[in-house]
Amino acid sequence: MTTKKQHLQTRIIRTRAPQSAEREQITPLYMNSGFSFENAEQARDVYAGDEPGYVYGRWQTPNTDELIARMCLLEEAQAGLTTSSGMAAIFTALAGLLHSGDHVVSARALFGATSQVLTQILPRWGISHSTFEGALPETWAAAFQPNTKVCMIETPSNPALALVDIARLAELCRARSVVLVVDNTFATPVVQRPLTLGAHLVAHSTTKFLDGQGRTMGGILLGEQAVLDELISFARTIGPVLSPFNAWVLSQSLETLPLRMERHCANALTLARWLDDRTTEDIQQVRYPYLPSHPQHELALQQMSAGGGIVTFEVAGGIERGRRFLDALELCDIVANLGDARTIATHPASTTHSRLAEEERLAMGITPGLVRVSVGLEDQEDIIADVAQALAHSV
Ligand code: PLP
Repeated sequence: MTTKKQHLQTRIIRTRAPQSAEREQITPLYMNSGFSFENAEQARDVYAGDEPGYVYGRWQTPNTDELIARMCLLEEAQAGLTTSSGMAAIFTALAGLLHSGDHVVSARALFGATSQVLTQILPRWGISHSTFEGALPETWAAAFQPNTKVCMIETPSNPALALVDIARLAELCRARSVVLVVDNTFATPVVQRPLTLGAHLVAHSTTKFLDGQGRTMGGILLGEQAVLDELISFARTIGPVLSPFNAWVLSQSLETLPLRMERHCANALTLARWLDDRTTEDIQQVRYPYLPSHPQHELALQQMSAGGGIVTFEVAGGIERGRRFLDALELCDIVANLGDARTIATHPASTTHSRLAEEERLAMGITPGLVRVSVGLEDQEDIIADVAQALAHSV
């Protein structure tokens, strides 16, 4: 066995829970809720953290630990915490870090449910909120207050693909002792690593590209040990746990994540270029971070190693045309999800962001005819052929 440090891809695949006496090749599924102790003294010591060992499924399991270890490698994190969904991860981070009387600041463009937590749920407990325009760094500082404790962003944002300069914002947050939380669901750690740019905490909906085949719901928080210690203790009490089964599926998915993301990004770039070349009165505002026409293209090149798997564009004809376009698709699925091997198209104004007021949607860049395409792993010619025929048949 060579002592040379192995490459990341090798380490992700080879990082695993300890093998049992059966010497199974891949980590088995530990579908149990409790773990037994040799005696009462050991129970006391393990429970108190004086001896290593598993206690109870609400705390951690070999399957969630393996997933966290692999994600720590990918995100260059010190510690992590798995949850039952992406929203459970985001809510755990916000509720665990904020207290009554605190203020939270966020970029305006956020996933609909995250926005609802900030504007409708946290204010019930005396936590106030304001927003800034992610694309205008010179305006950020004015949105911070003396009691600001957390800053929440999503880059690229769902669905408008707006970017925020993570390194610049991290500098501002660190100077004010504000915890910067970055939702990295759209990029994945293969494309962007916010912790290496100065963020304190990364949140993911693992339901998307990390699973990659639309099987499991899940979420994860990753970051600095000190921030995670506080959140782990909070989460063990309130119980937003990921099931061992979902952790087992997700951990295996990570073995192919870099390969899959390479193909998602290549297919998405080809589709984005195809649409951009045809920008007419019928197709407008093609958005993809790695297209030179993206308003923050330079920033995309700086903080992302590829453009990601999502492309958005605006079809002329508003909500009705957007929905007709979806109905005309033959290959692509209409599903309230993204990050799948199968290409998925969504109409955000009438689905994911329908609970927001129209002005709020417009402020986030969600126009009535906006279509979001999560580009899958099919042959790119077939994806383009389907989009082309749906555009032609939905006029
Ligand atoms: N963050 C982003 C960017 C998302 O797109 C989603 C879901 O679409 C979530 C968070 C919430 O994740 P989940 O559906 O796993 O709760």
